[in-house]
Amino acid sequence: MDYLPVFLDLRGRQTLVVGAGSVAARKIELLLDAGAAVRVVAPQLGPQVQALVTAGRVEHAAHTFEPALLEGVVLAIAATNRDAVNAVVAAAARERQLPVNVVDDARLSTFVVPAIVDRSPVIVAIGTGGRSPVLARWVRARIERLLPARLGRVAELAGRWRARVAQAFRTLAARRRFWETVLDGRAAAYALDGRDDLADFELRRTLKREQTSGVRAAGSVVLVGAGPGDPDLLTLRAARELELADVVLYDRLVSPEVLARARRDAERIFVGKESGLHHVAQEDTNALLVKLAREGKRVVRLKGGDPFVFGRGGEELEALALHGIAFSIVPGITAALGAAAAAGIPLTHREHAHAVTFVTGHVRDEAEDEDDFDWAALAREQQTAVFYMGVANLGAIVARLAAHGAPPSRPIAIIEKATLPDQRVIVATLGTIVDEAVAARVSAPALLVVGDVVAMRATLARGGTGLHVGAGPQTETTEARSA
Ligand code: SAH
Repeated sequence: MDYLPVFLDLRGRQTLVVGAGSVAARKIELLLDAGAAVRVVAPQLGPQVQALVTAGRVEHAAHTFEPALLEGVVLAIAATNRDAVNAVVAAAARERQLPVNVVDDARLSTFVVPAIVDRSPVIVAIGTGGRSPVLARWVRARIERLLPARLGRVAELAGRWRARVAQAFRTLAARRRFWETVLDGRAAAYALDGRDDLADFELRRTLKREQTSGVRAAGSVVLVGAGPGDPDLLTLRAARELELADVVLYDRLVSPEVLARARRDAERIFVGKESGLHHVAQEDTNALLVKLAREGKRVVRLKGGDPFVFGRGGEELEALALHGIAFSIVPGITAALGAAAAAGIPLTHREHAHAVTFVTGHVRDEAEDEDDFDWAALAREQQTAVFYMGVANLGAIVARLAAHGAPPSRPIAIIEKATLPDQRVIVATLGTIVDEAVAARVSAPALLVVGDVVAMRATLARGGTGLHVGAGPQTETTEARSA
């Protein structure tokens, strides 16, 4: 974070605006909206500021800026069209440790004024660290569309009842649950409709009902698929569950960007299986889920990709069922699907692949013929095989496919960190991939995609942009193509 967003209480406080053109006028209006007293400094006034002065809403110092004018001021804005004047204001304010904003100059400023979505008392402030006001406005337009016009009424409703609700429910968790019920329910709907009486009536009813239903509501567990890494690939339901969670249990494959979507003060617990020293056994994770749910918590168990694809989701749910704990499942985009889209490799194709198989690459190290895999089936033409967890066993996998008749020319891709900004795609053939992988120092997590569809990538990639899901401008795709 370049800046800490805060909301300043400026009611009745003295502020100073230097400049009196249309830009200054907008800043003055903003300060007046926030209840500040405004002193404007400018030898001449533009028409908008003149109107405010005439109406007695701002005080006017009709001369050039001098530092003494900062006396008693808590915040200053320089909005003249003269860089030299703005710089003098910034320097004088900084000397007095006063927050100062120079319009369109983040470098001289100690704070920036965000783009604002105003549903007072609900206010959304949007900043880009001074990099792109246009982007800030773009974001604002989207949020404007998202938020109901009377959202402020809901906040007013909550404000009226806050103290009574706090009295009624002792624990934070119980209070939060109550408010979630209210926000999802009729009381909020009435407030959004502008019918405050009915909203109050409903809220009173909900309060009575929740209080008499008495005992602490039971907790629950939601098994949520986190997708392959790019947070934009979360489902809407996954995003909502993350926003509601009291606790989030996650493992290694869950990207920090996805985890960041959890409620800010949700507890985050790492239960990864292969993180060196901290090895959390599956039974411990099961027991922890049960314990947290029993405490009445809303628990999200977050798993990379889809929880039911090589995710042991079933085992954890068995434990919950055994203890009578309510659970639900939110599917996710499994790594194979994320990787295929991000790398531009269709998994099926009318001419090249009539089936796709997801296979675990945890092949045993024993002799080939003792393997319980149907390698002959995987080695056949006209299909695609996607190996999860296969990087460490790449050599063995390739050898077995070859031993069962797959030609050395069959295309194979390794997709490393699919959908993440540092995604890499290595395209080769069964004959060359082992060397290519060593040369590229491939590391987990990565998928192997075997089949003629891999060759489609060359054609599809020519289409240009848009293939890399969520790829930022910094994304590079490294390719080591075989001859
Ligand atoms: N439930 C997960 C899979 C867990 S098994 C899912 O549905 O995707 C772990 C394996 O998934 C890794 O070894 C790797 O092969 C694959 N994987 C997960 N995320 C990946 C990613 N972003 N890029 C490439 N492979 C990934």
